[in-house]
Amino acid sequence: MTQRVTVIGGGVVGLATAYALVREGMSVVLVEARDQLASATSFANGGQLSYRYVAPLADAGVPWQALGWLLRGDSPLRLRLRLDPAQWRWLLQFVMACRSSVNRRNAAQLLDLALHSQATLERWREDDGLSDFAWRQNGKLVAFRSERAFAHGRAHLLDPDRQRVLGASEVRALEPALADAPFVGGVLTADEEVADCHRFCERLAERLRASGQCRFLLGSPVTRLISRDDQVVAVQLGREQVDVERLVLCAGHRSAGLALPGLRLPVYPLKGYSLTAPIATAHRAPEISITDYERKIVYARLDQRLRVAAMVDIVGYDESVDARRLDSMRRQALETLPQAADYTKAVEWAGMRPATPTGVPIIGASAYRNLWLNLGHGALGFTLACGSGERLARMLC
Ligand SMILES: Cc1cc2nc3c(=O)[nH]c(=O)nc-3n(C[C@H](O)[C@H](O)[C@H](O)COP(=O)(O)OP(=O)(O)OC[C@H]3O[C@@H](n4cnc5c(N)ncnc54)[C@H](O)[C@@H]3O)c2cc1C
Repeated sequence: MTQRVTVIGGGVVGLATAYALVREGMSVVLVEARDQLASATSFANGGQLSYRYVAPLADAGVPWQALGWLLRGDSPLRLRLRLDPAQWRWLLQFVMACRSSVNRRNAAQLLDLALHSQATLERWREDDGLSDFAWRQNGKLVAFRSERAFAHGRAHLLDPDRQRVLGASEVRALEPALADAPFVGGVLTADEEVADCHRFCERLAERLRASGQCRFLLGSPVTRLISRDDQVVAVQLGREQVDVERLVLCAGHRSAGLALPGLRLPVYPLKGYSLTAPIATAHRAPEISITDYERKIVYARLDQRLRVAAMVDIVGYDESVDARRLDSMRRQALETLPQAADYTKAVEWAGMRPATPTGVPIIGASAYRNLWLNLGHGALGFTLACGSGERLARMLC
């Protein structure tokens, strides 16, 4: 008999999980709080499938560097302390993870998952014909403004066989859109990819609907998981309790709100922003994805639009768009790629990265026999979604 799996969360992680489960022959009910799928953090992220840039934020020296950032007006990091034990606990665990040995171990685990994710997406594209989500293998350039940062970047290549170190003139030759940008050098990884996460989610949803094996319950927030002994027996949807056989929690930064006794989910939101502007002058818009290393801003061309994404705001669950943060991003984008896009027409967006303190997502079984977890993908949810979904489906099957 076909097993029924309930998936909570219709972001890129929940949809990729549902897709992988259906591919394994399972029948899925996907429950999503909002009226639209992929309308939370998976809506307008940076678009980078950044398979070889997965080192977690938590690293030796980061707390000191962060203190410096917090004093700057245009800082990529903002912290507003709250009277919220979850925030303090998360920050403490983050600081405890800021050790080179921990960073190296977690980075290796993330790299393994990322490469699996790249292979999984390739299979889905080639075997299933998934397309039309602005996917390209366009390469990624990490560009440096100072000699010091460039030297550090050169000395810490993640995959020297696949990465090329470029001087200032080589950067400009490779990416003419950077003609006026003051970069002193860069590191190019040619097989990194880019795509539109929201459109990818739409394609997955279409396939799921067409399969006849997946039912969507939209506009249906789960308010509680109901357990008996070591099993989840039902989910609370409004006044109704819906029985579950097997359950996968993919509720992004809201996952912690659905924890059960004995199940702690150290996931906290790190807010970020994006601007999506129509390309103004085609040859002055970058083809390659660019990471401005010092400013922590990423640029990705998605068909005829330029996506600019940045900022980490640790400000609790406030999802509002902060105009000052976006003004700062717009100013910096105009300095770096002045003619690439019409920034006056940019669509503004804020999203909440579902972050664990270590940067490693929580994927797998839980203390409850029929409850599985696929959450906490932080700044890499798009990159890691296919691999996480596929791994989870295999474990569950
Ligand atoms: C500015 C920014 C730039 C980024 N850039 C990149 C990038 O370039 N590359 C990359 O790989 N990643 C990037 N990310 C990270 C990536 O967007 C996230 O990791 C990813 O979208 C998380 O997906 P998710 O499915 O876990 O969460 P979401 O997309 O938030 O989905 C969770 C879903 O669960 C639903 N939900 C929550 N609670 C409940 C409930 N109780 N009942 C029912 N449904 C519920 C929500 O409504 C939501 O739809 C970026 C993030 C930001 C903010």
